[in-house]
Amino acid sequence: MDPKDFRSWAHELVDWMADYVEDSGRYPIQPDVAPGEMRAQFDIAPPESAEPFEQIFRDFQDKVVPGVTHWNHPGWFAYFPANHSPPSILAEMLTATLGAQCMSWETSPVATELEEVVMDWLAQMLDLPDGFTGVIQDTASTATLVALLTARERATDNRWGSEGPQAAKAHRIYTSEHAHSSVAKAVKLAGFGLENLVLIPGDEQHRMDAEALRQAVERDIDLGHLPTAVVATIGTTSTTSIDPVRAIGELAKEYGVWFHVDGAYAASLGILPERRDLLDGLEHADSFVFNPHKWLFTNFDCSAYYVRDVDALLRTFSTSPEYLKTAHDADVKNFRDWGIQLGRRFRALKLWFVIRSYGVEGLREKLRHHLELGDFVAETIGGWNDFEIVGPTDQGLTCFRWTGGDDAANAELMRRANEPNDVRFTHTAIDGRFVIRFCVGQLYTEREHVELGLRRIREAADSLPR
Ligand SMILES: *Cc1c(COP(=O)(O)O)cnc(C)c1O
Repeated sequence: MDPKDFRSWAHELVDWMADYVEDSGRYPIQPDVAPGEMRAQFDIAPPESAEPFEQIFRDFQDKVVPGVTHWNHPGWFAYFPANHSPPSILAEMLTATLGAQCMSWETSPVATELEEVVMDWLAQMLDLPDGFTGVIQDTASTATLVALLTARERATDNRWGSEGPQAAKAHRIYTSEHAHSSVAKAVKLAGFGLENLVLIPGDEQHRMDAEALRQAVERDIDLGHLPTAVVATIGTTSTTSIDPVRAIGELAKEYGVWFHVDGAYAASLGILPERRDLLDGLEHADSFVFNPHKWLFTNFDCSAYYVRDVDALLRTFSTSPEYLKTAHDADVKNFRDWGIQLGRRFRALKLWFVIRSYGVEGLREKLRHHLELGDFVAETIGGWNDFEIVGPTDQGLTCFRWTGGDDAANAELMRRANEPNDVRFTHTAIDGRFVIRFCVGQLYTEREHVELGLRRIREAADSLPR
């Protein structure tokens, strides 16, 4: 493609993008396709000769778009949001255009330094305690793995990394039974062994029971194990329950255990002064992650990871082969040494665009609006006498079940509510029961969309036998 064609196609595609953003509700949310149906549309072999871009773009519209699940549809109440926003999309275009590989300072100085700046901005926005240094990781899952690997190296004086697993004693990792699956995955990948992941029970509000944690730690010490890390959650994935971060942090300090806090979704609310209490106790954390790609309108992927002991992080991840050495290494951050992969995208740019375009106050307004809509959902469903609310409702998510029927009836209710394909709900299991989740956090969601979602649920319940 020559520059002239690139220019004209770029304009054409931007028009398509603007239409998409302007009417993000234009498509059915979930494609109605069977497994394999998408693949069958595509040629088995790669094209031997060049194809006209016109054809490629037409196929994108005819074959790709109908197979996309539209996470940025205003009726998206499923999972947690994966938000984009116009400024974020524009930054992603520029990032792709620059095509910079930002593994070290020298391989794109501004990428490193702008990342330092926006990580500092986010720290100020959340009013993070002093002493944290930030780096962008691709996902919260990666950040949690990075935290556990660093904890592992700190606990073994870096011997695990150099000599291999130290089998003499079991390193024990603690998290709540309601923690995200990425914690178990990280325990497995870091080599601790899933058998050494201790799941601490939650209280009736699904928050980690700090007293049960203390007992588990003390029991392990008596057995000769090594308590190594504890992971708490600010906003669990099923119900947005908030673990008692301060109490857990104090305990972690007392026993010299690495304390990692996963605030993937809900910690974005920390930018609201009236909700800053969500982050209470974070000064005891060794590391903390949250996802601007969930609830701060920044395209996936963008996880903000903060760590206190940067040297421990660097001892875990740095390598310095000859071909990567530069003249500035002593004076700069080389973010390749702050995580798992070598190559890095220029992710700071989209955050910089988003924060500047909305301003912190604009972002706060968005979140407050979502919280108001979330309150409206909780009040409406709470007012229906054949429904019950399960778990907290203060973080934009309402979990509920229909009391007119059993788990199977609730699953059928959700299926019927999703059927018109203009709103989307997903479920979870809480205390062994099927629960429907209604999460309000998509950028374009307004009152009318929430009302439609509520209507879909009401109609689905009324259509079921009881
Ligand atoms: C979504 C979520 C994650 C995983 O986030 P990724 O960035 O997709 O890895 C981890 N923890 C919690 C609490 C989450 O809600």
